[in-house]
Amino acid sequence: MEHRSSLPVKHGWGHVVAAGSFLDHLVRTQDPVSALTQLMRATVKAVQQSRQYQCHCGWTDLKLGALEIDRLRGADLKNLLRQGKLILVLDLDHTLLNSTRLVDLSSEEQYLLEQADAMKEDPNRSLFKLESMHMLTKLRPFVHTFLREASMLFEMYIYTMAERSYALEIAKLLDPEKVYFHSKVISQSDCTQRHQKGLDVILGAESTVLILDDTEMVWQKHKENLIVMERYHYFSSSCRQFRYAEKSLSEMRQDERESDGALATILGILKRVHEMFFNQVGGSDISSGDVRQMLKNIRKEIFADCKIVFSRIFPSNARPENQLIWKMCEQLGAVCSAEIDTTVTHVVSVDAGTEKAKWALQNEKFLVHPRWVEGAFYLWRRFPEEDFPVDKSRTA
Ligand SMILES: [Mg+2]
Repeated sequence: MEHRSSLPVKHGWGHVVAAGSFLDHLVRTQDPVSALTQLMRATVKAVQQSRQYQCHCGWTDLKLGALEIDRLRGADLKNLLRQGKLILVLDLDHTLLNSTRLVDLSSEEQYLLEQADAMKEDPNRSLFKLESMHMLTKLRPFVHTFLREASMLFEMYIYTMAERSYALEIAKLLDPEKVYFHSKVISQSDCTQRHQKGLDVILGAESTVLILDDTEMVWQKHKENLIVMERYHYFSSSCRQFRYAEKSLSEMRQDERESDGALATILGILKRVHEMFFNQVGGSDISSGDVRQMLKNIRKEIFADCKIVFSRIFPSNARPENQLIWKMCEQLGAVCSAEIDTTVTHVVSVDAGTEKAKWALQNEKFLVHPRWVEGAFYLWRRFPEEDFPVDKSRTA
């Protein structure tokens, strides 16, 4: 017979049976961040395995109430803000790095094996062979500078859906001196909901947390905290997995640029949010700042004053306002419309021969490829429209 936990996980930590002495021990022996993180993990496990805990551990006589958790969270939040820091949650794969199994390397990528061996002693290398896992890992350009500078402004967590052993291996590559993450590495087994990441296992108020992740759908409850990252596809297996028809960076023997790649760009956004938060809060009322609103405002500046019409971009039976690119434009501050009128500033199309595209050309409106929108969404700036032309060979 299946035994189910009677503990209502979704209603929060306060209902969870846990050990007060365990908590006290953690708080006494560790910094509050790792104490609460470990407590969260232990409590999640306690919920999942409540029967075993009740039978074998004898912890049911001590209840950890919601007030106790809140007290810890509140105390730590104050400490954090006093240090001038916010919280940054970092995904690993495709956000900070790209990994591949050795068996998935294409013939054009075989040179990487030699390269990884030759670089073994180089402290600044970015390509690593994970011998025990039969994998190669390529760190995203700029990642070390990113972590160093972000760590001055944020308390940082790794949060990955990957297995714990892999997460810890990667944490060693990113943070060999253990100065950034300490024990703040959250992996698949720590997630409280299947296929979802949540801030319930993160210490800190949601108003102070920023998240970097290439996968939006795992953050259903926290989209407002999320900066969606352009996926870093270094290896060919990654391109195949995401059905990218183009050759991988490794096959072309290229890489993202350090100076204005994804991580350098996003670091600039993080610094801006951080500055806005502490300037606004100004040390008076710590609880009044909210990074979600700041992120929203910064994003909305990018396409402010743009009115955008789409031409043959969506399937004919789809509701335009539900399409990803429509939503991206709105988040970027544009007004989207189904019809052309004189106030329209941009027509987005892949075909210069459509009626709306022709109208744009005749009326001196911008006619741009959809990649203009994607570029702005991922790199947080409005690129020159002329860099995203629409193929005019189809105009005739
Ligand atoms: Mg990812």
